[in-house]
Amino acid sequence: MKKCPFCAEDIQEEAVKCRYCGEFLNKSSNAQWYFKTNWVIIGFLCAGPLAFPLLWFNPRYSKRNKIITTVIVSIITYYFTVVTIQSVKTILNHYDQLFL
Ligand SMILES: [Zn+2]
Repeated sequence: MKKCPFCAEDIQEEAVKCRYCGEFLNKSSNAQWYFKTNWVIIGFLCAGPLAFPLLWFNPRYSKRNKIITTVIVSIITYYFTVVTIQSVKTILNHYDQLFL
């Protein structure tokens, strides 16, 4: 026997759904796979700041961690944006010198 995390009634160890309150007990582990830290990191690596909602709506992290991560990712995104713009400018200057 184990306790239902929603209503605290004693239920079967293998129970998928609580028979007292009707809550599904594997909800947080199965349905929200995208909230796992690995997927949040992959999201940031692939989509950058577009992955912020994964962080903000993630119940696994505290508000403080969310703010710190948001600031760090914003700084990294800003840095990469500046570097990208500078390298594009360098390439354009290079071509200007070639053709003019
Ligand atoms: Zn319950």
